[in-house]
Amino acid sequence: MCLARRGWRRQGFRLLERSSLLWKLMAVIFAALLFCEFSIYYLVIFRCHWPEVAPPAHSGEQAPVLRAMVLADTHLLGEVQGHWLDKLRREWQMERAFQTALWVLQPEVIFILGDIFDEGKWSSPQAWADDLGRFQKMFRHPSHMQLKVVAGNHDIGFHYWMSSYTVQRFEKAFSAERLFSQKGVNFVMVNSVAMEGDSCSICAVAEAELLEISRLLNCSREVRGSGPCGAGQRLPPSAPVLLQHYPLYRASDANCSGPDAAPPEERSIPFKERYDALSQEASQKLLWWFRPRLVLSGHTHSACEVLHSGRIRELSVPSFSWRNRNNPSFVMASLTSHDYALSKCFLPQEDTVLATYCGVAGLLAAFGLAHAGRWALPFLSGWTALRTHRAR
Ligand SMILES: [Zn+2]
Repeated sequence: MCLARRGWRRQGFRLLERSSLLWKLMAVIFAALLFCEFSIYYLVIFRCHWPEVAPPAHSGEQAPVLRAMVLADTHLLGEVQGHWLDKLRREWQMERAFQTALWVLQPEVIFILGDIFDEGKWSSPQAWADDLGRFQKMFRHPSHMQLKVVAGNHDIGFHYWMSSYTVQRFEKAFSAERLFSQKGVNFVMVNSVAMEGDSCSICAVAEAELLEISRLLNCSREVRGSGPCGAGQRLPPSAPVLLQHYPLYRASDANCSGPDAAPPEERSIPFKERYDALSQEASQKLLWWFRPRLVLSGHTHSACEVLHSGRIRELSVPSFSWRNRNNPSFVMASLTSHDYALSKCFLPQEDTVLATYCGVAGLLAAFGLAHAGRWALPFLSGWTALRTHRAR
């Protein structure tokens, strides 16, 4: 009797010990999830800082600084090619990264340089509405921050796929705005898919709009009353920043470098004009029309810095999605009417998250195996004690 009671007590103690162990294991799993799905975004993005614009050379007042966050190629998966798990994972990552960046960095304006969707080029009205709803939830932002987008080939289709329907659908969901000015900084948002140069009806309208903006910008840089611009209200007298999906023409990514440039084996693959980058004519046109001080583009999913005509800087912004890169990032731009400074904010690497999960899983497996023997033994001895008591 005494032996049996002692056996039951020991078994009860072991059950208690086992349930407390299970709680500990669950706490470890919860901590891993919390770290990999929430905290890591704060830890990484807290290290990013807005770049400082150099003070004016002459002892003048610093012009107001506009803080802009620039990202590209989010490629929200569609209903045809997107697997639900891939969609869930990538959208969660982008939503956490975006919301954390807004909270930590407080940009005034956010630009997304096209290919917001993966299947906007062919999605049905229902699928489009679904994709758009998810985009609006993921990239929600307070009303004092502005979100501006330009169209990419995956949003409205490559040139020969693009139709008035896909263009209007995109512009209705976002905006048809091509020119945006804030704090004396002018931005021109180009529909680069329509820069094919073949005078198609969409291309002709897009080019006419750009020409009118070019005229307005040229007027802003002219001395009042000296030209044909008249005395009406003018844009800030500042060279614009071009924002577009396709990069301006470059032969390849051979001269690109950095941790988020294209892989070395892909860098020397020649770019196809009108597919990987704008044509040489279209690129020249944009540079002549706008004389920009900076060009920001997407599409290549990798970073690159190019100098056009020896002085106009272009930055290819890498993809914001972990589906396209192990180390996505976004650009942080501090801009005044006459100067700017750029820095890049890298997001958590997919490898780090996977390694953390694998480490925790390995630890739990080892722990479980080590305790399996310990649990089995007391149960066996308890059972033996019970059987001994019954036999008596
Ligand atoms: Zn693209």
